[in-house]
Amino acid sequence: MKKVLVLEDESSIRSFVVINLRRSGYDPIEAETGEQALEQLKRNPDIRVALLDVMLPDIDGFEVCRRIRASDSRIGIIMLTAKSQEMDKVTGLMTGADDYVTKPFSPAELTARIDALYRRTGGGDEGGDGELRQGPFRLNTRNRTLEKNGERIRLTQIEYSIIKLFMDNPGKALSREDILNAVWGRDYFGELKIVDVNIRRLRIKIEDDPTIPTYITTVWGYGYKWGF
Ligand code: CA
Repeated sequence: MKKVLVLEDESSIRSFVVINLRRSGYDPIEAETGEQALEQLKRNPDIRVALLDVMLPDIDGFEVCRRIRASDSRIGIIMLTAKSQEMDKVTGLMTGADDYVTKPFSPAELTARIDALYRRTGGGDEGGDGELRQGPFRLNTRNRTLEKNGERIRLTQIEYSIIKLFMDNPGKALSREDILNAVWGRDYFGELKIVDVNIRRLRIKIEDDPTIPTYITTVWGYGYKWGF
């Protein structure tokens, strides 16, 4: 069964999510507090996607996200944010979340996001194994790992997918729509901004100086380009 962690303290929202996930073939694991969520993850290492509410009675969702990411870069993380928390979206993504869904959300929207992340975190379904080497980077497509000058860079699955897309298209300007479609999928409901936030995070990890990016350059009014 495809396990999804649902961290939400409001029981009405949590049961709404749980019912809809079950209907879509997922096995939801529930948690009411941040501590419970971390415990459930320890108990269920096969959870591949986590939904994290931001406002919680104990530790907030961003902190939960940070703690998960400290030991696990592979799990897909979606933050559940309120409409008024526009800034939180960015904060959440910078702490290592892959995506966010704004409340109130429709079951179809939520399931589409989870499906997309589940495909991303699947591994093994990408075909073609081996290695891509460009400049100081070495991408292992079997283990889905990246090294820069021989040193491992920890990537989330979304970040890995973006780097893979870039390395498959060196020197080519990719529009933000291209990146969104290729990485998040065509059925994705989200905003283009998520591309920018993920690129920003990726630059911090891979650029020599993230304020003067040389590997991922901006193509103004269009998108991004991978090159040296
Ligand atoms: Ca809450």
